[in-house]
Amino acid sequence: MTSPADKQAALVESGRRYLYPNYRQPALVIERGEGAVLWDVAGKRYLDFFAGIAVSALGHGHPALVRAVSEQVARLVHLSNYFFNAPNVRLAELLCKKTGMDRVFFSNSGTEAIEACLKLARRHFWAAGQPERLRVIAFDNSFHGRTLGALAATGQGKYKEGFGPLPNVTHVPYGDARAVADNMAADVAAILVEPVQGEGGVLPAPPGFLQELRRLCDQHGALLIADEIQTGVGRTGTFLGVEHDGVKPDVIALAKGLGGGIPIGAMLCIEKVSGALPPGSHGSTFGGNALASAAALAVIETVDSENLLAQTQTKGERLARALASVQERYPKLITAVRGRGLLQAAVLSADVDARAVLGKLQDAGLLVTIAGAQALRFSPPLVVSDAHIDEAVEVLARVLAGVA
Ligand SMILES: *Cc1c(COP(=O)(O)O)cnc(C)c1O
Repeated sequence: MTSPADKQAALVESGRRYLYPNYRQPALVIERGEGAVLWDVAGKRYLDFFAGIAVSALGHGHPALVRAVSEQVARLVHLSNYFFNAPNVRLAELLCKKTGMDRVFFSNSGTEAIEACLKLARRHFWAAGQPERLRVIAFDNSFHGRTLGALAATGQGKYKEGFGPLPNVTHVPYGDARAVADNMAADVAAILVEPVQGEGGVLPAPPGFLQELRRLCDQHGALLIADEIQTGVGRTGTFLGVEHDGVKPDVIALAKGLGGGIPIGAMLCIEKVSGALPPGSHGSTFGGNALASAAALAVIETVDSENLLAQTQTKGERLARALASVQERYPKLITAVRGRGLLQAAVLSADVDARAVLGKLQDAGLLVTIAGAQALRFSPPLVVSDAHIDEAVEVLARVLAGVA
């Protein structure tokens, strides 16, 4: 009989031998989850405060998601977009009602949703007789995905190194409306912005910034594209992150939390640009298939039925307050606490080894991620309990006591 620990060690060894080595997984294998708790193959328990990078909005094993996916997998999984399927049509309608958009194109991931946004912007102006409008303005420190188009828009050199020439995107400092205004010209098709820079270190847009971008787009006839892949579907306490600023974009990208872990992304847009991508010009084999759509429907319906937007606001405040009190105890280790809703960060000071802290938190049974260089990002499932929030922050305090 092999022990659970031996079984886990053997899996880690095979993973390190056979998987493409583009990630740096620690020596454990997660086997199952329940709510905001995960267990590895060796039986160790972890608090899940990363939710698969802000994806598992309903946590693990939520009955509504389990039921929706189980029923749909038995009825119909996939068709392609050669035909309508019912969950997909219902999801499109629900998303339009939730966001004020008019049309939805479905993809399988965030980067594909961004790719669709960028192609839509280019082809919209091409079809309107302005083929010179190709340029996109995006922001330093942004993250938009890994396909060549989304990578071009990403404002962090570490993701782009070695991939050669990319489409022309102008990057300006996040929050600097003046710099955007200075770069607006007749060749700008779109401004692409995250309401909170997630991967960049959990940086909320400064007050008034998104409104100013809206104004500049209107003034110059460019499209405002909101990358809501991390902030959307309730993560910040409103359905969309831009609602905090009262701004309506022309185009929105969703993914991450949308399917609660089943891969699905979406590009939503206003009617004005609905002719930009006619049949044949863009598409996806899997995008919006019946299974993924049923999952997303269950997520959105549960966000409503369990009042998760209000919950996310109060739980987010509880988490932020608790993190701030840890900062008060260890002001030399934590320099800032920032975020919105259940997307929060405790920023470690520059001389703290963030990866080492991450490893110690994991040993102590708390899973979080690093965003930017030094931010410990807390993005638990939206269904996380107060008790788990308190427990997670106690683990952080204990680990920092050992570092101090
Ligand atoms: C994760 C993320 C993406 C990329 O999504 P993938 O599903 O990993 O392709 C794009 N933009 C933002 C803001 C993200 O957080």
